[in-house]
Formats: sequence, C-alpha cells, structure tokens
Amino acid sequence: MKYKSILLKLSGESLAGANKAGIDPEQLASYAKQIKKISEKGVEIAIVIGGGNIFRGLKASAAGFDRVSGDSMGMLATVINSIALCARLEEEGCSSKLLTATKMAPIGELYRAKKAKKFMSKGKVVIIAGGTGNPFFTTDTASALRACELQVDVMLKGTRVDGIYDSDPEKNPDAKKFENISYDEIYKRGLKVMDMTATTMCKENDVKIAVFDMDTEGNLGKVVAGEAIGTVVS
Ligand code: UDP
Repeated sequence: MKYKSILLKLSGESLAGANKAGIDPEQLASYAKQIKKISEKGVEIAIVIGGGNIFRGLKASAAGFDRVSGDSMGMLATVINSIALCARLEEEGCSSKLLTATKMAPIGELYRAKKAKKFMSKGKVVIIAGGTGNPFFTTDTASALRACELQVDVMLKGTRVDGIYDSDPEKNPDAKKFENISYDEIYKRGLKVMDMTATTMCKENDVKIAVFDMDTEGNLGKVVAGEAIGTVVS
C-alpha cells in the first residue's frame, strides 16, 4: 500500500445514491465494503462525512432562519450520516469508532487527535462527526483540519467524478482531466475542487489530496495502493 494512513472525505450527497436525498443502503454498503478491505490490509483510516444529503447551512435563509442555526443543523446531518456508516461497518465486521467534534455522549466520544490516533493505530476505523464543530465551515475544511491534526499520508476526497478537470465534465464533454495539479494551479484556474479554506489549509500544511471516484467499487483500494486513477494535488 502506498498510503499507510488516510483521511477519507465522503460527501453526504454521494451517500444518497440515486435517490438524491437521504441514505441509500446499497451505497452505504458499497462504501463500508471498500473501507473494510483497506482496513484489513493495515491502512489506518479516519473518515469525515458531509451532510448535504440531509441539510446544508446555506439553505437556512431560504427557509427563514439564520445561518448559524442552519449550520448547526448541517453539522447534525453529518452526525446522522456518520452513525449510519459506523453501524454499517460494524455490520460488515469492521471495527469502528465514532468521535464527535462537540460533546454528544453517548452517541460518540468527544474527538481529540491523540485519542483518534490511538484508535487508528489499533486498527479501528475512526469516524469524526460534526464537522469542525463551528458554523461557517464545511466538511471539506473539517477534513483538511483532521488530516493536518492526524498527520495522515494523504487526504482522499471520494466523489462521483473521477478526478479534477479543467471544466465541469458533466457539462463539457471536452473537459480535460489532470493526473497531477498544484494547489496554486487550482487557485489560478478557479477550480472548484474544495472550498478555498480547505485548499489553503492543505497547501499551508503540505497535506497531499487525492480526488477520485468512490462510487466505482474497488477504487478506494486502488487509490490507496497508489494506482493513478484520480487526480493528486500537491
Ligand atoms: N457544517 C458547518 N461546520 C462544519 C462542517 C459543516 O457548519 O465544520 C455544516 C454546513 O452547514 C454544511 C453542512 O454542515 O453545509 C453539511 O456539510 P457539507 O456541506 O460540507 O456536506 P457535503 O457537501 O460534503 O455533503
């Protein structure tokens, strides 16, 4: 395996599968199976999941309330997704531990980097729920933050697109995919890989990012083994 420790970011939206909302049991099972496989190979794994399949804070004003309340709902949405993945991993026979960014016992223990690292070194898949615990952030930034704190080899962004393109491949059939790209090139081209806060955090702390298609089963194993199936940002 090329990467011995990873921070895997899964978007809430991809968890919804074809339904576009809620949690698709097949998608959840596919993710759990892929995660179990690399865990069995000794890869240390931390996971951050988004909440976009349930709620995004930016929708708050349209719904008639403030952003801070909306973001709190969004953070709770990530907890729902995290509980689901944790339960599904256990079902698959993969030992996992749910940690939360803010106090939420008995749902999960309060996150601390040292604690997370200890569980990871014992072979437990650690799921870190609740984003950063603060409004006005995203789970991309939470992932970047946790990747820095846990000093993992790479932050993997599992999406439904197979890498970073010079334009949206879902709209432009001539879009060109990058195998490698620098953080500065992302800024220069205005590419929407992650939000700027997350990208800057990775750049300033030398966290390598690999963007890949997590919806094709087996891809997580390939990317961790070092196969060039997505785009690497460094
Ligand atoms: N959120 C937040 N602080 C954080 C992380 C997330 O307030 O540190 C809220 C924010 O409202 C966001 C929502 O949680 O819209 C869901 O996260 P995100 O949009 O990143 O999920 P994804 O797009 O990955 O499904």
